[in-house]
Amino acid sequence: MYIFVKNSQLMSVSDNLKKIKSTLPPAVKLVAVSKNHPSEIISEAYRAGQMAFGENKVQELVQKQAQLPADIEWHLIGHLQTNKVKYIAPFIGMIQSVDSLKLLKEINKEALKNNRTINCLLQFHIATEDTKFGLNQEEAELLLQSDDYKSLNNVAICGVMGMATFTDDLVMVRNEFRNLKNIFDSLKAKYFNKNNNFKEISMGMSDDYKIAVEEFSTLVRIGTAVFGERQYV
Ligand SMILES: *Cc1c(COP(=O)(O)O)cnc(C)c1O
Repeated sequence: MYIFVKNSQLMSVSDNLKKIKSTLPPAVKLVAVSKNHPSEIISEAYRAGQMAFGENKVQELVQKQAQLPADIEWHLIGHLQTNKVKYIAPFIGMIQSVDSLKLLKEINKEALKNNRTINCLLQFHIATEDTKFGLNQEEAELLLQSDDYKSLNNVAICGVMGMATFTDDLVMVRNEFRNLKNIFDSLKAKYFNKNNNFKEISMGMSDDYKIAVEEFSTLVRIGTAVFGERQYV
């Protein structure tokens, strides 16, 4: 059993999962963010019933996918370069970090080669702090209105994803989540009214998922609260 220490208490992955799940409404999906944690620990979470895992690097994801049970649902949550799409296209469950039409077209191309449809989320830049990745609403609308987008038959846009500012200011965090929910509602009404795929609002991490759920998150991405602190070597 994988055990770590937090606030001088012993914690286990399966206890953590149980605890987090008990606080989530049943309709909110938990993606366990396993980046920088070894496959054995993912295995333990899997044996405890966790099926969806999130990784942010293609190379690490591909290695783990090969070592672990084939029915794991893998989510890519980090920035994706177009030249790496081909490595994950055969198996990826959802790409949460789509931030350009160019990337979406490449995902479509590789999905077609693999004779499948790949689920995607549009990533939005909602944080007040200056981070590199994510669309704003205007950019997303241009993407969704383009003829190029309309011709893509092997990608399914299933909703939106965003990360709040890394801050203790919980009012700011809440407002950023509200902003993402407003973007979701607006895009849903304008572009996905009759499309049942478009239903996910991916927001909330270890330190802010309770606020995210209050602000109508449908999918939380939780790493540290499940697996403990990440070791970067
Ligand atoms: C690492 C990461 C998470 C999980 O963060 P924790 O604070 O460890 O829960 C969630 N989303 C993204 C995009 C990440 O990169």
